[in-house]
Amino acid sequence: MTALNALNLLRPGSVDEAIAALLAHPGGWLLGGGTDLLVNMRRGVTQPETLIDTTGIAEIKQLVADGSGLTIGAGVTLASLAADGLVAARYPALSEAARAVAGPGHRKLGTVGGNLCLDTRCIYYNQSEWWRRANSYCLKNRGEICHVAPKGNRCHAAFSGDLAPALLVLGAEVEIAGPDGRRRIPLGELYVEDGRAHLALRPGEVVVTVRLPADPLASRYVKVRQRGAIDYPLAGVAVALARSGSRLAQLRIALTGTNSRPFLLAETAAFAQRSLDDALLREIDRLVQKQVQPMRTTLMPANYRRVVAAALASRITAELFASLAPA
Ligand SMILES: Cc1cc2nc3c(=O)[nH]c(=O)nc-3n(C[C@H](O)[C@H](O)[C@H](O)COP(=O)(O)OP(=O)(O)OC[C@H]3O[C@@H](n4cnc5c(N)ncnc54)[C@H](O)[C@@H]3O)c2cc1C
Ligand code: SF4
Repeated sequence: MTALNALNLLRPGSVDEAIAALLAHPGGWLLGGGTDLLVNMRRGVTQPETLIDTTGIAEIKQLVADGSGLTIGAGVTLASLAADGLVAARYPALSEAARAVAGPGHRKLGTVGGNLCLDTRCIYYNQSEWWRRANSYCLKNRGEICHVAPKGNRCHAAFSGDLAPALLVLGAEVEIAGPDGRRRIPLGELYVEDGRAHLALRPGEVVVTVRLPADPLASRYVKVRQRGAIDYPLAGVAVALARSGSRLAQLRIALTGTNSRPFLLAETAAFAQRSLDDALLREIDRLVQKQVQPMRTTLMPANYRRVVAAALASRITAELFASLAPA
C-alpha cells in the first residue's frame, strides 16, 4: 500500500454543489463510504487530486416507501438497507445482496451509490503499485496490453458489485443529476460492457437515487465467493419470478461478477407459461452459459465461474418457484 497523495477534500451540502465541484475539478472523484475507492488509492491505482465527499448531502440519504414504490438514496448505507424490514419483506433479493457485501465494517460505511458505481476488478489491476509496475501495468491503467487477452484491445475486468443484479431483476431505475438537469434511466443502461469505462455517466453526473416499483416479483440473490465471510462475488445471480399454477408466469435473471457489467439475461420471456421441469432448468443453464463472458480476471478459472453462474441460476429458479404457493 502506498501513502495517499496530498489532496483536496470537498464536502458539498447538496447535489447541485457536488455537480459544481465535479465540473470545477474534472479529475475529481466522488467519495461515498470510500471502502473501495480508498483501497484503490492506497494501491496507487488511482490518485485523484480532489475527492468530493457525498456523505453530507441529506437528499441522497433517504430511504422512502410510498404507494408507487421505494426510493433509495445513493448515500444510504448498505447496513441500513440490509436492516430495513420493508426491504427484507418486499424486495428480499436486495436485502440478501446488501447483507452479502464485504464485512460489517464495510457495510456500515459503504453506500448504495458506491456499490452501483464500483470500479471493475481484475487480478492484474487490484495489485500494489510495485507489482503492477513490475508487470508493465496493463490496458486498464497506464499499460499497453491486456494480460488476460493480450491479442485484444479491450479490458475484461469484471463488475463485482452485489446490489446491481438484485435491483435489475426488481425493475430498478436510477435517477442521475448533472449539469443538464436530471434524468431517469433503467438501471441496466447505467452500464457498458467495457472494463475500462463501464459506467454511462457523463462529466459532472452524480447518481442520486434508485427507484423500485411497488409490486415486485418474488426474488432471491445468491453469490459464490472464495471466502464465505467476506469477498466479492465470483458469480452472483438474482432471480425474480411469478408463478401461475405449475407454470412460470414471468422470469427475470441477472448476473454480476462474470462480465464487465451486471446484466439482465436476455430471452427469458420465452420461458413464460412453460412448466418448470428439468428440461426448462437445463435450458436456463444453457442460456446463462451462452451469455456470460467470464475471463481470467480472478484466481478462480473462468470456466468455473461460467458453470457456477448457470448452476446458481437454475437452482435459485427451481427453489424460488417451489417456495411460492400455486396461484
Ligand atoms: C475486503 C473488501 C471486500 C469487499 N467485498 C465486496 C463484496 O463482496 N461485494 C461488493 O459489492 N463490494 C465489496 N467491496 C467493495 C465495497 O466495500 C462496496 O462495494 C461498497 O458498497 C462501496 O461503496 P462505497 O460507498 O464505499 O464506495 P466508494 O469506495 O466511496 O466509491 C466507489 C466508486 O463509486 C463512485 N461513487 C460513489 N458514490 C457515487 C455517486 N453517488 N454517484 C456516482 N458515483 C459514485 C466513486 O467515485 C467510486 O468510483 C469490498 C471491499 C473490500 C475492501
Ligand atoms: S482485463 Fe486486461 S486490461 Fe483489464 S484489468 Fe485485467 S489485465 Fe488489465
